[in-house]
Amino acid sequence: MTVTIPFDNSYARLPDRFYTRMKPTPVQKPELLKFNAELASEMGIAHGKDEELAEIFSGNLIPEGAEPLAQVYAGHQFGGFSPRLGDGRANLLGEALHAKIRRDIHLKGSGPTPYSRMGDGRAWLGPVLREYVISEAMHALGIPTTRALAAVATGEPVYREEGSLPGAVIARTASSHIRVGTFQYFWARRDVPALESLFEHVVERHYPQASDPLDLLNAVMANQASLVAKWMSIGFIHGVMNTDNTTISGETIDYGPCAFMDKYDERTVFSSIDHHGRYAYCNQPNVIVWNMAQFASTLVALMPNGDHAVEIFTKSVQTMPNLIKKEWLKLFGQKIGISDATEADTAIIGDLLKRMQNGGADFTNTFRALAEGKAAGQFKNPDEFREWERIWRQRLKSEPDPESAMLKANPAYMPRNHRIELMIQSAVYDDLKPFERLLSVFSRPYESQPDAEYLKLPPEPHEVVQRTFCGT
Ligand code: AMP
Ligand code: MG
Repeated sequence: MTVTIPFDNSYARLPDRFYTRMKPTPVQKPELLKFNAELASEMGIAHGKDEELAEIFSGNLIPEGAEPLAQVYAGHQFGGFSPRLGDGRANLLGEALHAKIRRDIHLKGSGPTPYSRMGDGRAWLGPVLREYVISEAMHALGIPTTRALAAVATGEPVYREEGSLPGAVIARTASSHIRVGTFQYFWARRDVPALESLFEHVVERHYPQASDPLDLLNAVMANQASLVAKWMSIGFIHGVMNTDNTTISGETIDYGPCAFMDKYDERTVFSSIDHHGRYAYCNQPNVIVWNMAQFASTLVALMPNGDHAVEIFTKSVQTMPNLIKKEWLKLFGQKIGISDATEADTAIIGDLLKRMQNGGADFTNTFRALAEGKAAGQFKNPDEFREWERIWRQRLKSEPDPESAMLKANPAYMPRNHRIELMIQSAVYDDLKPFERLLSVFSRPYESQPDAEYLKLPPEPHEVVQRTFCGT
């Protein structure tokens, strides 16, 4: 059986200046490392042989109905505006439309494009498998995200700071790859007709209920507020929250130097180039508001009455911190067994986090241990926890079954950075067993898995990964 994909490529029907039509650059010796058959079925993709899947998802073979292109976008990177970025090492093959669900199929690492600037257009195996594991784990945790459809080794070397490394391509899916930076690209050129087309495309595709740019802004802000609150609730640090890595759909995208926190420290930063902590854990709720303000700026251009629109849009953006706070309160309330946390519960949550920070407590394990009555052991000084525990237990008296609720709100198994690094080291030597193992365990993060206890362990001091390099 040959591979068939139900393509319907709405983005390719947008005007030419939205992209460059081009094929991926073929690779020498594609070899399928992993194929997400379950996701493929959901997308109406009929499977073929591994060799054919490897040819397609490395970019060597263009499947029937695909219209490959590289998308153009702009973006604020660490606060500075780049008017022209775009897919520098990626191609959108097209959109699979099945059971009324539309998903982009996007190859990353598929060769140079007109947007590559100094880059080689490629990716190496490490970040490809990293993205595969983390995005699938995020999905299993219930967090909106791009998903991994396939990983293919290219048989070609890629040169990075570390030296020569094995090349790979990841095929990922998303409800779209439209970013705040896509709007910014046309906004920077004062191309209002293009902004209008993009607005219509996005409304039809993601927000059919939105009838004007203000509605769209509010809908995107609601999704992003919920997304970032969810990140906070599992200790996720994106690492590069540039506006080109902020989706309009509200899905997590671009797993570069991201990571999950081990010890709770709200100032944790992972990206090696984030010297000022712009994208530190605790700053993510601020940054997303900043990013939405940039998005709002682009939409103002679509309003007939400029000045008045600025006022209205500004007021709207100013509501966002509260939206995030509300979502945050709901999620962190659930994490400590409170079903409907109110403003009054902010103090008890904040107090726990402060004690965790002072006590060097592990983020994931402490919350999980709350349900099991074992959290004190996570703190350097267990009495610090016990003081808090007395007040907390009082608060829980009105909750019917906080223990079960907490087990559902607090995952046990998370893709910790040191485990990901070990998995990559094995994969470089052709051993994909740790990769498969991680995928399997993290697909059920809330279930007890007695044979996976070792994956709960935080890193030993020598195993701590301090920074993740952008040399992806
Ligand atoms: P990122 O920080 O990964 O979101 O990427 C920012 C921009 O750099 C995007 O336009 C990417 O396509 C581009 N880029 C990143 N790595 C490469 C590479 N190896 N070759 C070409 N372009 C790249
Ligand atoms: Mg990016």
